[in-house]
Amino acid sequence: MTTEIFNAKTQKENGTNYAGRVIRAGGLVAFPTETVYGLGANGLDGEAVAKIFEAKGRPQDNPLILHVAKKSDVKALWRHIPDNAKRLMDAFWPGPLTLIFVKSDIIPEEVTAGLDTVAVRMPEHKTALALIRAAGVPIAAPSANISGRPSPTTAEHVLADMDGRIDVILDGGPCSVGVESTVLTLVGKPRILRPGGITKEMLEQIIGEVEVDPSVLRPLREGEVAASPGMKHKHYAPDAEVVVAVGSWRRIASIICREYEIAEAMGKRCIILGTEQTRTCYHGMNCDIIGNRDLPQTLCAELFSALRRYSGKVDVIFAEGVPETDQGLAYMNRLLRASGFTVLDK
Ligand code: AMP
Ligand code: MG
Repeated sequence: MTTEIFNAKTQKENGTNYAGRVIRAGGLVAFPTETVYGLGANGLDGEAVAKIFEAKGRPQDNPLILHVAKKSDVKALWRHIPDNAKRLMDAFWPGPLTLIFVKSDIIPEEVTAGLDTVAVRMPEHKTALALIRAAGVPIAAPSANISGRPSPTTAEHVLADMDGRIDVILDGGPCSVGVESTVLTLVGKPRILRPGGITKEMLEQIIGEVEVDPSVLRPLREGEVAASPGMKHKHYAPDAEVVVAVGSWRRIASIICREYEIAEAMGKRCIILGTEQTRTCYHGMNCDIIGNRDLPQTLCAELFSALRRYSGKVDVIFAEGVPETDQGLAYMNRLLRASGFTVLDK
């Protein structure tokens, strides 16, 4: 199959109208959102949804998120809308927050991987909203990468993974948030299954206490069942070893300097993903400043792009841990998974 690319700015309506027809006809369209690029299919058509799993090589037991263009679209997708969901939708939709609740009867089992709940989000990106409206159906979409690789934050990333596997790519430039949406289940006590741009602190201002699933910052233990099936699979990994140093920024810099020298002496090619605060610590070493430790959202915005930039080009990527507060929780969740939980603290 030939993958057609439309520029979402210059070919605005042509692109989204055509892509909307492709979705209705059961095809696959990659589209920009404020989080990462999504790989969309008609969320009410099980056969179309099955093609997403095939194109990505996604494990069959990992459910998808349905994307809607207006809040009231949720009515048809959930059994009912709980009060806390209404308040969260008013506060954060459109935006990077996915809500999980008990599904209605119209959802094909391919979307939910057989679960009795379904995840729904209203994205903020204009092109995503225009596409969903043009399609006239909820769009099921995971990130538009080959399963296991870092999520795509530009159309070039999508093309690198999906050329020839999908019908259309809408190119809307780089994504602003850079990590996938926060996933919050409202079945039982509200619990974050995946942290993202809408933080625990922000959610708690609206609905009070919110739990964080233990799998967010550590691997599943033997016999433990994943609350969110996606958390048990290998994720976000570039073609290079990723090592995370944690502690104060001074400690982190000294760990990375020491390990970099050891790796270099072994003939390994290395890169450091540094921050504004450690800019002057890595003298004479390969370093890419990707953001500011005090503004973890800047690190989220650059992480996947940086992992792809050095994938296959270096042997080791050294990265700095940050405090797990605000968007730092999302950053650490992605970084720890990308590293396979390879952490150095002394
Ligand atoms: P992705 O599509 O790559 O953004 O991943 C979607 C994430 O949401 C994965 O971690 C899924 O496991 C999770 N997810 C989607 N639907 C559900 C659900 N009904 N219950 C629990 N987790 C879900
Ligand atoms: Mg993904």
